[in-house]
Amino acid sequence: MSDCLFCKIIAGEIPSSKVYEDDMVYAFKDIEPVAPIHYLIVPKEHISGASEINSENSKYVAHIFEVAAKIAADEGFSDGFRIITNCGEDAGQSVHHLHFHLLAGKKMGWSSDSAV
Ligand code: 5GP
Ligand code: ZN
Repeated sequence: MSDCLFCKIIAGEIPSSKVYEDDMVYAFKDIEPVAPIHYLIVPKEHISGASEINSENSKYVAHIFEVAAKIAADEGFSDGFRIITNCGEDAGQSVHHLHFHLLAGKKMGWSSDSAV
């Protein structure tokens, strides 16, 4: 999509700090980190959010979790990590291109109002 921020980041039209890339996904550092490690992992195909996942495109979700595990192993997140996706207004989704937050590097609490 031409007006999508993350499509522009994937295309290199907007700069980002790349963490990982392959033919299906792109991972980069969040511009406003909420944990010492805060990466975003996105499919290279434009999918607007988790509500748009179906049998045709669910392969991206499986692959994103594989990539998250690989990044965690490569970077040594030995104390654990968290994966989050926000979908829709109530969840606070601000960029409408499916993305998974990969968070690590601190002890995290748990509530529906706070990711970290
Ligand atoms: P959401 O709120 O939709 O779950 O997550 C969107 C995330 O994208 C936020 O954590 C926000 O900081 C990040 N973000 C927004 N604009 C940019 C940008 O231009 N570059 C990068 N690297 N991250 C961004
Ligand atoms: Zn997009």
